[in-house]
Amino acid sequence: VDPDDSLVHALRRAVAEAPDRTFLAYFDARLTYREVDRLSDSVAGHLAARGVERGDRVAVVLQNSPHFVLAVLGAWKAGATVVPVNPMYKSAEVSHVLKDAEAAALVCSDRAWQAYLRDTAAGSPVRAVLTACERDFQTRDDARVLGFERLEPAADADDLTAVARAGHRPPEGRDPLPGDIALISYTSGTSGTPKGATNTHRNIMYNAERQRTGLDLPEAPVYFAMAPLFHITGMVCQFGACLNSVGTLVLAYRFEAGVVLEAFAEHRPHYTVGPSTAFMALAAHPSVTPDHFSSFEVISSGGAPLPPALVEKFRAGFGPYIRNGYGLTECTAPCASVPPGHEAPVDPVSGTLAVGVPGPDTVVRILDDAGQEVPFGEQGEIVVSGPQVVPGYWRRPDATAETFPGGELRTGDIGFMDERGWLYVVDRKKDMINASGFKVWPREVEDVLYTHPAVREAAVVGVPDGYRGETVKAYISLRPGAEADPDALAAYCKERLAAYKYPRQVEILPELPKTASGKILRRELRSRTRDS
Ligand code: ATP
Repeated sequence: VDPDDSLVHALRRAVAEAPDRTFLAYFDARLTYREVDRLSDSVAGHLAARGVERGDRVAVVLQNSPHFVLAVLGAWKAGATVVPVNPMYKSAEVSHVLKDAEAAALVCSDRAWQAYLRDTAAGSPVRAVLTACERDFQTRDDARVLGFERLEPAADADDLTAVARAGHRPPEGRDPLPGDIALISYTSGTSGTPKGATNTHRNIMYNAERQRTGLDLPEAPVYFAMAPLFHITGMVCQFGACLNSVGTLVLAYRFEAGVVLEAFAEHRPHYTVGPSTAFMALAAHPSVTPDHFSSFEVISSGGAPLPPALVEKFRAGFGPYIRNGYGLTECTAPCASVPPGHEAPVDPVSGTLAVGVPGPDTVVRILDDAGQEVPFGEQGEIVVSGPQVVPGYWRRPDATAETFPGGELRTGDIGFMDERGWLYVVDRKKDMINASGFKVWPREVEDVLYTHPAVREAAVVGVPDGYRGETVKAYISLRPGAEADPDALAAYCKERLAAYKYPRQVEILPELPKTASGKILRRELRSRTRDS
């Protein structure tokens, strides 16, 4: 990789090489490399005119649509850092991110702006707002697919499509440098309040390049964006890798099995990445046929455990091999994956499928509790260093020192390495819950439960779930004399948290188990569910 590289430079190379190749396909809309370059230039010029300076943060709250790509490339061309935000987030969750990142600009859908983000942004540092109608660029009536109508533009925001088409010139001398922060990716963690991992352009280019060279894809590959682009896997392994390979990126707004299968039939993708549950949902869809998958060279799964039985079932039923991959937001998506021409072995003792081998220049060490490296085959914490590991968390030297001692990433995952160098992930040291690849941190849900007047104690744990892998369960004890119904407590959380975070199960106990010092024994609650 060129040490001065970034996806902005990759776009310029792509425009020089194949200006008329389709870069983005979105239902019936097609945008070529040249068009995306011009449209994002104009977004950059607009942001600069609205006072966005080099290093300023631009929050982007959008689903997988061309608008997402134009906003990200436009922000980078203006020298800014992008803060991708999950559109499922509720107002309080977005508000925290806007304030913590000190976002100067916000890009969101016109519906979200008018429904709640206008109020959310009111007390934040946001100075410029761009809103997107995610039905723009299409001619076909996709209201059926997208499930919403076009709105009248808001008077207090600029329309992203109009801005992109206005032909503004990008500001001069704002090209990203490799060490600049490209993204601030928020993850919650043990502290409860989400903190931002700072993915640099160098971090992203390393993994985008690894995805290009580590996959045997044809020239001008067609990528299907199954994972959301606001998540690091979608951003790097789909958008970044596709752009770096001068491929076509097929976007379908958000994951809906029927819509995804239609897009497979129409666009014949060679490659996609998603959590294992997405492949289960596709395999179980009533209209699925092996032909839907006949164009795929390979499929990758990441972000959650991949059951070996699913890999076999998929290959027998549909053809493609599902390639495992392991990573974290803090290492800019993958740090270990299955090399081309290989298949991940299954550990005979635990029945776990290997996640892959560490990439070049990536060092994975397995450490015991004393920080000593353990021999092959023995379990310990997975610790990673390499060009994809972020320099730290945004304005959080304490959390950075704790998670990245000496620049190495403490993953909080438990695993082992076999003698041939295959890495296996078997458990977690951290309290995180992994529901279909969506990460839920107990502390954040507990903080919400504690605001409920009837709640005395709350502990949130992950419990096994046949489809999601894990699901969120809350154990509660009530204040003396208080009454609360489990469903009402779940609904209370649902109103305040993104839909994937609220507890699907709530159990009220007279008292929660505690240590002698009064700390709630989360592990005991977890094993109580596993044993029952
Ligand atoms: P990836 O880059 O692999 O998609 P991610 O983008 O989902 O990971 P996070 O949302 O930060 O990144 O979650 C990282 C956590 O997901 C890891 O610490 C681990 O617990 C879990 N995880 C990721 N990949 C795998 C895998 N292949 N098998 C088991 N657990 C995994």
